[in-house]
Amino acid sequence: MKPAALKPSEETAPAHRAGVLLPLPLSGAYDYATDEKLPRGTIVTVPLGPREYLACVWNDGDGKVAPEKLKPVGRLPGNPHLSGALCDFVDWVARYTLSPPGQVLGLALRVPSAFDEPVPRIAFVRGDKTPKKMTEARARVLALCEDGLARRLSDYAAEANASPAVVRGLIGCGALVETGLPEFARFPDPEPDYAQPALNAEQSEAARILVADVAAQKFSTSLLDGVTGSGKTETYFEAVAEALRKGKQALILLPEIALTVQFLDRFAERFGCRPAEWHSDLSQKERKRTYRAVMNGEVRVVVGARSALFLPFQELGLIIADEEHEQAYKQEDGVIYHARDMAVVRARLENCPVVLSSATPSLESYVNAASGRYRWLRLRERHGVASLPQIKLIDLRLEKMDTGTWLSQPLREALALALASGEQAMLFLNRRGYAPLTLCQSCGHKMVCRNCSTWLVEHRYHRRLTCHHCGFDVPTPKNCPECQAENSLIACGPGVERVAEEFAAVFPQARMAVASSDTWHGPLETQAAIRSMVKREIDVVIGTQIMAKGHHFPQLTLVGVIDADLGGADGDMRARERTFQLLHQVSGRAGRAEKPGFVLLQTRNPNDAVMKALASGDRDAFYEQERGFRERAATPPFGRLAAVILSGAEGDKVRDAGRQLAKAAPSARGVKVWGPTPAFYHLLRGQTRERLLVQADKSVDVQTYLRAWLALVKVPNAVRVTVDIDPVSFF
Ligand code: ADP
Ligand code: ZN
Repeated sequence: MKPAALKPSEETAPAHRAGVLLPLPLSGAYDYATDEKLPRGTIVTVPLGPREYLACVWNDGDGKVAPEKLKPVGRLPGNPHLSGALCDFVDWVARYTLSPPGQVLGLALRVPSAFDEPVPRIAFVRGDKTPKKMTEARARVLALCEDGLARRLSDYAAEANASPAVVRGLIGCGALVETGLPEFARFPDPEPDYAQPALNAEQSEAARILVADVAAQKFSTSLLDGVTGSGKTETYFEAVAEALRKGKQALILLPEIALTVQFLDRFAERFGCRPAEWHSDLSQKERKRTYRAVMNGEVRVVVGARSALFLPFQELGLIIADEEHEQAYKQEDGVIYHARDMAVVRARLENCPVVLSSATPSLESYVNAASGRYRWLRLRERHGVASLPQIKLIDLRLEKMDTGTWLSQPLREALALALASGEQAMLFLNRRGYAPLTLCQSCGHKMVCRNCSTWLVEHRYHRRLTCHHCGFDVPTPKNCPECQAENSLIACGPGVERVAEEFAAVFPQARMAVASSDTWHGPLETQAAIRSMVKREIDVVIGTQIMAKGHHFPQLTLVGVIDADLGGADGDMRARERTFQLLHQVSGRAGRAEKPGFVLLQTRNPNDAVMKALASGDRDAFYEQERGFRERAATPPFGRLAAVILSGAEGDKVRDAGRQLAKAAPSARGVKVWGPTPAFYHLLRGQTRERLLVQADKSVDVQTYLRAWLALVKVPNAVRVTVDIDPVSFF
């Protein structure tokens, strides 16, 4: 029998109803009861099934559940809330990416522990007792108290060079007494006028416009398009300074790879302290500290990777997306979104300016700037005396080179010259490990991954073959696993480790380091390589794209690109653009200070449009040509693309679902559906993958089309359907 108190009655019926969105992939908000009307964005806790969830008040509810059946929401200390603009942003991203709104909300509520009651840290200050016995160690501890600051036990011990027992003794006799400190140390405040640089004419003009935008606090989009080394960072820092002066928060987005200590230090030189950081390497505690401080307004500037776009800013006044062309801005799983595009959306909803910065803008941004949709701010010259590097092509077809060697004669000569004059060099190859393919000389067997349709990459130093997609790895076998021939496996093609081996053989005296984004040459090793480059402890760095971007090495004069054709073979519509951007960035590392830079590109296609544009330095001619290709093919930004990816462990079901979907595709004006075809990696981490591609005119509402289409087919549970709006990778 139910207890009488739970019986529905007029008295116990809830005063208010709220539609509450849970951070789960549900189709919408659920109704709950509240005792007062809560505004949209209020963070609450709600029960669902056996669990309590952190959730967000979203609307007034749909009224479908009877009032007496509603469960009550739980309130949180301090009544935290997301801003209306952030709630609208969540809805917008969900609609655009075809994701459940709750899943997108999950990105904004990433740190549930940030809403826990703050736990003060226990600290101690001078009490009114004096210890009976005074030792030297005790005196040192008490001397620290003279500044009046509260310290933790371990801080007293460390600062006074005393044992914790000494401090405990002082606590025991009342010479030190307990007090509470906030859970986390405060973030320092960046000062807008800490160290203002003298900007050159081009920089001042661009900065003046950006500062005026920030002061006006209206939505605007600017493309800060400046050659490498032109001081784009210095320029947009002025806009950040203005946001600070106006009491606004600022967000600087960087591709994860560019989030380096170097950048944080530069920020500190300009603003007197480091900014708050947001990226995947933060500890859970730092996450909690930062999230809370962004929400309560203590943090004024965040420098972060794409996920920082969902932080709960309350008074956002500026967003910068640096290296806006970077593919790393695309989130490829979960909610699939492009952080640069969504940065523009968030800025619009926050009604604040957004600045996209790059030396090699995405074609989308270039076209938007050229058509006047974005404001186009150009910096055409390198700052100071630095000039743009001279770029030369080396036609590998004409070079006589021993098999298994990758450094041509002209490149070797240039390296010898740079080393002899005490300058630094970089060799660039966008391929990790020793060799991309291991092949049996007697039977032709290729060493491939068990879970993916990929080759295993040899890492010779560790004597292992590794899959760069799923992490599968095996010791390099001595004999061919297929035909058992002895010692018949050979390495084909170069990776950075192999180039390093050749370099060391040719230049045994030179000091060198290898840097790649490998599990073995991890971020720490890369940071170390960057530091040794800056400190001149090494002469040559051999690296993958992790070394290509953003770094500033004043003594680096020579860049050698081992294989400039790599990447052009992807065959998707952005392959040329990407190759151009990457090689341009790599080249931009050379000659950033007084000494002129020199770049050698080894290629087998010297007549290719990308190679010609790089060698001639005529960037805009390349962009115009590229724009022509896209316009004729009606691909972005002149048309819309969306990919539908089907994946699952059972290949037959995946292929069958693909065929069903293709058959069901409604015919609509201006829409074409291609496929299904096996994805480029048709097997990835054990999953079979098929792709369909929707190509539509600009005027078509692709999201509505996709929703209608996907609702027509019941795909079996064993097959996962992923929608990728504006795909940038076609794997
Ligand atoms: P970009 O981001 O455009 O490639 P950076 O902002 O990295 O260029 O600037 C290149 C170098 O020139 C940096 O070392 C930067 O500190 C320096 N620099 C740029 N502008 C100025 C300036 N106005 N005054 C002093 N140094 C500058
Ligand atoms: Zn694999």
